[in-house]
Amino acid sequence: MSDTAVVFREEGIFHDTGPYHPEKPARLEAILDAFARHKIDPPFLEIEPVTREDLLRIHTVQHVDTIERTCKNNLDYPDPDTVMGEASWDAALLSAGGAISACKAVLEGKYKSVFEIMRPPGHHAEPNRAMGFCLFNNVAIAGRWLTDVAGLKRIAIFDFDVHHGNGTQKAFYDDDRVYYISIHQFPHYPGTGFPEERGKNNTNLNIQMMPGVPEELWHSAIENLVLPELKRFKPEFLLISAGFDAHRKDPLGSQNLEEEDFAKITRALKGIAGGRIVSLLEGGYNLEALGESCVAHYLALRDEI
Ligand SMILES: [Zn+2]
Repeated sequence: MSDTAVVFREEGIFHDTGPYHPEKPARLEAILDAFARHKIDPPFLEIEPVTREDLLRIHTVQHVDTIERTCKNNLDYPDPDTVMGEASWDAALLSAGGAISACKAVLEGKYKSVFEIMRPPGHHAEPNRAMGFCLFNNVAIAGRWLTDVAGLKRIAIFDFDVHHGNGTQKAFYDDDRVYYISIHQFPHYPGTGFPEERGKNNTNLNIQMMPGVPEELWHSAIENLVLPELKRFKPEFLLISAGFDAHRKDPLGSQNLEEEDFAKITRALKGIAGGRIVSLLEGGYNLEALGESCVAHYLALRDEI
């Protein structure tokens, strides 16, 4: 029996970033194709768009209004990497809202875990600005909903995207209810995420990987640094910023992970928070590698170890 649901809405495909952008609609199609190729037929979770109230727990009024105006009027955003158009508004609301709907479903016991396959991604979006292909910080919005609305006392966010989640770190840096852990390539975009940045109460952890390191270094960092910290913190819920751009074929990263490495990382995380896990798609830009890695990640979440 499958009890790991998937969040997907076709509005995620309508978010058009133009013909040459790596964060493109075909990413979602590649993932769905890979699921079909592996004959995986997951339950799909019904989701709601995020509310303004949910957005404003992380983002400023000015930011939310700017994104709405920029999308609806097809304006250029000051960060040339971060492209949005009319259809991006609904996609962004569903991407963030799907994360909250997923958390609700897991808390209510409808599913043991949920994997959201949506775009735009979120972890670079800061309270007052969009950047790095991200409009709203989906994982941060879900995290804040878990603490402030669902009333959880301790949650963790683990971010294995090859880029540092600067926006997520900024959202929770001094909040000791939320432990943000990121493993990322350094030096690399966005140039943030240093090991000495531990937050007010040691609830922020950055692990840097040099370009080209062997995949064993990722696994030993997770075993020796990430898991002990998560076990000590005892989160009631685990959110994952699941970026697959540390794959060795990815054009935006210089790491050496493969599909099976993402499965291994996912299996290592399953003992955390009693397996109450919501995972959100971030990066991953080689279409074939992305599809296969998402399948590996989903199966590792779903299947008993
Ligand atoms: Zn990334």
